[in-house]
Amino acid sequence: MPHILKMFIRISVLFFVSLLSFQLSAMELPKESRVPGGVAIIPLDGLDQNKLPSAWYKSNQVMVVSSKGTPYEEQSHWIAIAGIPLSAKPDQKQHLRANATSFYFNIAGKEYKAQYLTIKNKRHVEPDPEDVKRWRREKAKMTAAFKLWSLPEQPVTQFELPANGPFSSPFGLKRFFNKQPRNPHSGLDIAAPVGAPITAPAAGVIADTGDYFFNGNTVIIDHGHGLTTMYCHMSKIEAKIGDRVNTGDLIGLIGKTGRVTGPHLHWSVSLNNTRVDPILFLNQ
Ligand code: ZN
Repeated sequence: MPHILKMFIRISVLFFVSLLSFQLSAMELPKESRVPGGVAIIPLDGLDQNKLPSAWYKSNQVMVVSSKGTPYEEQSHWIAIAGIPLSAKPDQKQHLRANATSFYFNIAGKEYKAQYLTIKNKRHVEPDPEDVKRWRREKAKMTAAFKLWSLPEQPVTQFELPANGPFSSPFGLKRFFNKQPRNPHSGLDIAAPVGAPITAPAAGVIADTGDYFFNGNTVIIDHGHGLTTMYCHMSKIEAKIGDRVNTGDLIGLIGKTGRVTGPHLHWSVSLNNTRVDPILFLNQ
């Protein structure tokens, strides 16, 4: 066999072997960041390999996946992927329970920047009592969606971007509307023109849709294992509750409904009913 042909075969074999090993290790985890608003990945060693453990952190059920094909494969069969609330205290040991076993982990502090916004619609800063009642009803509906627990066969642990445009406001900003302190920014804002498409960042089921006081036209997707995503301020909703969606499916159009200063997508990622930084789920 000519030398050049031998070399070609050798390179081809190497290529396919590396492709195969890439396929086997295709389980991409979120980027770990043990800070308030971040994600902790906890190897659950010593648990029964044959039964998916049930894990809990701050009274919410937590995603547990097989470690196969991840950097934790040697360490333990199962890993918990837990969202850490922005309100978590870095000086307190965090406690996660899996079946009857306790796992403890530390978190570091993170200083998020402040953002001052001017809102023209005063009711969006100082809502009247009827608005407050409406918002409470809507919040209960959204919380129910964030707390959904479904178990699709293929857990979702990575996202594609749901819209094209610059990131206009990062997650976690301490927020002041018309100089008044309000809740921190619980999502990532992507600026785009009204009418631009918003697509599902991964497979899931539409868990909720609605026209909400602060969030405007909103869609929530349940991706399973306690992972949900929320899309706000849409000009048009293009999905119905119960619809099954795949990565890239249209779910709505960019708009400026609700409390906004201009057209954008507010994208929230919720893990174990805890809003975390969406950036951690993007394959960068
Ligand atoms: Zn936002």
